[in-house]
Amino acid sequence: MYLVRIETTFDSGHRLLDYDGKCAFPHGHTYRAEVFLESDTLDPQGLVFDFTELKHRVKAWIDDNWDHSFLVNSRDTELIEGLTPASKGRIYQFHEENPSCEVLSRELYNKVVELCGVSPVKVRMWESLDQYAEFSGGQ
Ligand SMILES: [Zn+2]
Repeated sequence: MYLVRIETTFDSGHRLLDYDGKCAFPHGHTYRAEVFLESDTLDPQGLVFDFTELKHRVKAWIDDNWDHSFLVNSRDTELIEGLTPASKGRIYQFHEENPSCEVLSRELYNKVVELCGVSPVKVRMWESLDQYAEFSGGQ
């Protein structure tokens, strides 16, 4: 089995609703996203998937949607209304879900399927240097 991995970093703000802890307050992270693709066969060029192409598509989507954006729960009207004029639209809403590391990893997994036409073996999302969440398929 072959495995390829790309990674990219981005900066976003978020907060968690109905959470008892520091993440209930608006704050930011430098996230690191890792995308893992696996295959038991190679294409005619000898690749699982072209690194450059994979990284370009994932990075472009993140740059357009998450980098220097505020990631919010769609129920977080207080934050959405507060940020809209100042952020010039740099808000990414998760439908009635908190922008947790777990939710981000699942969202990016589904975007990779959409953008690249392949299902990653997993997406790992680092929220800090010592903690990450992964999503490895499903919905
Ligand atoms: Zn956080």
